[in-house]
Amino acid sequence: MYLSFLLLVGSLFYILLIGILYFSKKRIKLIENRIYEIIIGTSIAGIFLDFIGIYANLNLSETSIFRWFIVKFYFLYLLAITFLLTFYIFFSVISDLEKNEKINKRIKIELRLLITTFILFTILNFILPFSYYNNGNLIYVYGPNAYFLYGVTAFSMLCWVLYIGFNFKKINRRKYLPILTFVLVGAPVAYIQMMHPELLLVTALISFIVVFMYFTIENPDIKMIELLNLARDQAEKANNAKSEFLSSMSHEIRTPLNAIVGFSQALLDDKEMPEHVKDEVKDIVMASDSLLEIVNGILDISKIEANKLEIINSEYSFKKIFDELVVLTRVRIGEKNLHFDPQYDESVPAILYGDHIRLKQIILNLLTNSAKYTKEGSVIFKVSSIVKDNVCRLIISVEDTGIGIKSDKIDKLFTKFERLGVEKSSTVEGTGLGLAITKKLVELMNGQIVVQSVYGKGSRFTVAIDQKIVATKAPEKVVEVQTEQSIINVEGKRILIVDDNQLNLKVASLLLKKYNLDVDTVLSGQECIDKINNGEKYDLILMDDMMPRMSGVETYQKLREISDFTIPTVALTANAIAGMKEKYLADGFSDYLAKPISKVELDRVIHTFLGRN
Ligand code: ADP
Repeated sequence: MYLSFLLLVGSLFYILLIGILYFSKKRIKLIENRIYEIIIGTSIAGIFLDFIGIYANLNLSETSIFRWFIVKFYFLYLLAITFLLTFYIFFSVISDLEKNEKINKRIKIELRLLITTFILFTILNFILPFSYYNNGNLIYVYGPNAYFLYGVTAFSMLCWVLYIGFNFKKINRRKYLPILTFVLVGAPVAYIQMMHPELLLVTALISFIVVFMYFTIENPDIKMIELLNLARDQAEKANNAKSEFLSSMSHEIRTPLNAIVGFSQALLDDKEMPEHVKDEVKDIVMASDSLLEIVNGILDISKIEANKLEIINSEYSFKKIFDELVVLTRVRIGEKNLHFDPQYDESVPAILYGDHIRLKQIILNLLTNSAKYTKEGSVIFKVSSIVKDNVCRLIISVEDTGIGIKSDKIDKLFTKFERLGVEKSSTVEGTGLGLAITKKLVELMNGQIVVQSVYGKGSRFTVAIDQKIVATKAPEKVVEVQTEQSIINVEGKRILIVDDNQLNLKVASLLLKKYNLDVDTVLSGQECIDKINNGEKYDLILMDDMMPRMSGVETYQKLREISDFTIPTVALTANAIAGMKEKYLADGFSDYLAKPISKVELDRVIHTFLGRN
């Protein structure tokens, strides 16, 4: 009796300890955890029932109704633990399964069945009779009620083992360890209990299992992290799918756009076209230019979001970029009554190391916005630097006297597709992508961007980016004499255009018409290789990349395997986000032309490769 008492006190101590440990921590309400909470509560109740049982044994007569209730409730406690463990195993399996509609339906039905059985058994438990057996020292209980309970427990244990066996791979091994221990230890414990009924081993065993479960139960924090990871993975997958889609859409849009730009530009060259028609054609060119800007923006943002955008560093002259930006901004301002004031601090080291393409894109976005959102006044473009050791911090500021930004809207400025104050600038074209891309690019380059703006007065965007210094002073350069390109005669030179799209071939041919070249076209990489193998001679090849069966890159690789192949080959592709040029050059191409083909770029390529003798 004393031993039982001690066992009970020990069990109570551990269970209370576990209970305090368990409940003192904030947890996510997973079904398994809720069941575990109930199991803790139930086992504490069981221990108290045992205490009362000991008291009853010593003090109450067999006929006492109070005693009858204690027995019934103790049986109910055993029944409840059996069912709770069943629920626990059941949910351990399904919570690890992917939850879809169908499974959920199945779970609900099975759960209802289990609960109904439990209620039925509880009723049975109270109906079934039992008898006392007095060995003079102690009183035990036997009879239908007790046998029924043994039967249910034994049957449940068998079910657990089978269920765990069938779902072996789906359950976390840690979870079924306590249950299996319970099953394994249960039989000898039951046997000892029968031999020594005075030892209250069953309650102690249950308490032990509950304590054991505490250490094996799915740690809700880990579970939460797993769930979050899963959600993140799914979101990432969806985001990647979206980016892929956008990227292929942009590519697809470029092809017809190439035709529109190409044909309208070719029309502009038509000297006999009446002036008013020319204006309309110019509008088409302008509209397609902004469409192109949008497509590029979407492509950039999707690349950034898919983490596919790389920063490609190389040596460059910042002054050169500055000068290019000044020209581009002047063009953008056009006939607007705006004073454009570029200020370049000569202390900026001459040759820097970094991603000049992205840097230029960042600044151009800011300059374009200032030009767009300023009706009159001025746009000041200032560049200075702080040099420390071999690092130069470029401080670039673009200031305007434009419409300004409301202070409560500044937070939204860098959110994609967010256009502020549209009521004021509804006539200004744009997508709301520019600044989102700018900010991401600045971050990718480990820089900072700051906005100061007074609504109605103007804005100032300041960017600070660190770049490595390669040389402080520009190397003495022989001034290249710019040859007047159009006077170089390229007439009669042979050029081969490779593109799987008829329309693209037509556009390219049309744009090349004015050079009086001998233009040949083929629709696939294989045809191009055949031509070269057949001894056809060309002075230049323009090669599309994304072609079915054999890509441009593959075709070019095969061409280079031909022993005396030396024809300059230029990638001509709609795969045209920034950074692509470098990729194609790295693939060995002589140069790169983006689709839609710009007349200026085409002119440059023609003169570079056909202008020389
Ligand atoms: P977009 O110019 O294509 O609309 P951006 O992302 O470049 O997209 O800019 C987002 C919004 O921020 C613009 O729609 C405009 O309302 C505001 N904004 C950007 N630059 C300026 C500026 N210099 N002055 C006033 N508002 C600006």
